[in-house]
Amino acid sequence: MGSSKGARATPEFVEGPPGRFRVLNEVDLRRGADFVLYWMTAHRRPNWNHALDYAAALARELNLPLLILEGLRSDYKHASRRHHSFILDGMASNARAFEGTAVHYAPFLETKEREGSGLLEALALQAACVVADEHPGFFYPKMLATAAARCPAQLIAVDSCGLLPLHVSERRFQRAFDLRRYIQRELPKHFSSLPAAEPDLRGLSELDPSHVSALERTSSTRAALEENRAELLARLPIDQEVLETEKRGGHEAARTLLEEFLHDGLDHYGGDRNHPDSGATSGLSPYLHYGHLSAYEVFAGVTSRASWGPDKLSERADGRREGWWGLSAGAEAFLDQLITWRELGLQRTCKLGRVERFDDLPNWAKQTLAEHRDDERPHLYALDDFDGARTHDELWNAAQRQLRSEGTIHNYLRMLWGKKILHWSESPEEAFRIMLHLNDKYALDGRDPNSMSGILWVLGLHDRAWGPERPVFGKVRYMTSDSTRRKLRLKAYLERWSDTPELPWD
Ligand SMILES: Cc1cc2nc3c(=O)[nH]c(=O)nc-3n(C[C@H](O)[C@H](O)[C@H](O)COP(=O)(O)OP(=O)(O)OC[C@H]3O[C@@H](n4cnc5c(N)ncnc54)[C@H](O)[C@@H]3O)c2cc1C
Repeated sequence: MGSSKGARATPEFVEGPPGRFRVLNEVDLRRGADFVLYWMTAHRRPNWNHALDYAAALARELNLPLLILEGLRSDYKHASRRHHSFILDGMASNARAFEGTAVHYAPFLETKEREGSGLLEALALQAACVVADEHPGFFYPKMLATAAARCPAQLIAVDSCGLLPLHVSERRFQRAFDLRRYIQRELPKHFSSLPAAEPDLRGLSELDPSHVSALERTSSTRAALEENRAELLARLPIDQEVLETEKRGGHEAARTLLEEFLHDGLDHYGGDRNHPDSGATSGLSPYLHYGHLSAYEVFAGVTSRASWGPDKLSERADGRREGWWGLSAGAEAFLDQLITWRELGLQRTCKLGRVERFDDLPNWAKQTLAEHRDDERPHLYALDDFDGARTHDELWNAAQRQLRSEGTIHNYLRMLWGKKILHWSESPEEAFRIMLHLNDKYALDGRDPNSMSGILWVLGLHDRAWGPERPVFGKVRYMTSDSTRRKLRLKAYLERWSDTPELPWD
């Protein structure tokens, strides 16, 4: 059996995805129980999901129904209309996906603080075991540890975060190059254990919900998903000022966007992705962040277009960015972001076991930033100035306006956005706090291991020392709005985001 190293043995009669599952408590599996419970928290989707596949296989083997609980708390940091609306779209989409299957899908929305307390434990009392999502970011590790201590059923965490299992290596990869080289050696071994594109839910017995009294606590959520969204959001105990965006969440919306990108964006991705006017980036990060879309599905979409198979892989595993996949330049560049860069954050956070801090920067970066801590700043702004897009710089303000309105910033401009916060804040530590606050509050893909990758990258992580040494930045890579304006096609972007008078906070 393939449970992760050091973990308690998992049920021996069902094969789990190698290296991706861990038993988190000392409770035995109960055979004569009422159902298998899948507690969906991070991989919020009905397909390409190892945790769902595993829970369904266990239920089938034990001849029990499968109950899925997908909860939405109201007390997490930065809970707002924006984040809630996106997640609720996902829950409505999942309700449609499980309709007509034998699976009993129970969405649960907290309408007052701590309303969900004890729900998992109450359901677990009747469960053979609880299958949970493994994720290294945000509050997930703490939440799983708390659940493991309290759960009256066996708790099994299954990782469906990326193409590489989270626990495949003990190493903390310091550079994208190192992880890329590792991926080139290791990843092909995992192509044979993909999650199902369409999970096999046949042959499962059906649950009679009237035999599960704790389910009554979830009964109003289904109706709430159909309710007028604005009215529903207005009565939740969440931040009412960070408004929902036009982007709809959920697996169906994610799949539509993926198809559009594969059709219109991918071929230009290699050459055009840095240009905000080009539309060559995918916009998929919020869906990947909330687990509405699997990186596997994106990978499968990219490779199936090119009739690709592992036989196209180059034999040299030397960490070079181009040429290993045997795909077009656009597809290779995209997969490098989707796999190497995205999973660098997942792997780093997993090995650390907690959300990162300023202190986790490499020593050279901390030292050079400290040496320049007292340098005079050309402009000095506080959090409120940044938040309200009230700096002297039109391009920076445009990026911040996009973040506040759309919950996203174009990738290249996101780097500039961060670098200028470093330049115009009173200390590097303060810049770190401001970036983190604004990113996590407004970005639909915020509070992700990649939020930390990006924010700490601004301050030197996964980068090298650069010359000449400059005020404030020291040897940390420097960027300016002027050179960005010279390099990028920005006309339409600036027209869209400069001084838009009708924005809600003006
Ligand atoms: C200051 C700063 C903050 C950032 N905060 C976040 C964040 O909160 N959440 C987040 O997902 N990304 C973050 N990034 C990384 C990157 O900007 C976004 O992943 C990317 O812009 C998402 O847009 P897209 O989906 O169109 O990407 P595409 O270019 O289409 O790439 C496809 C996918 O690859 C991954 N990816 C792309 N670029 C990167 C990168 N540089 N690092 C890691 N993964 C990447 C993402 O999952 C992305 O969806 C941040 C970068 C910076 C500089």
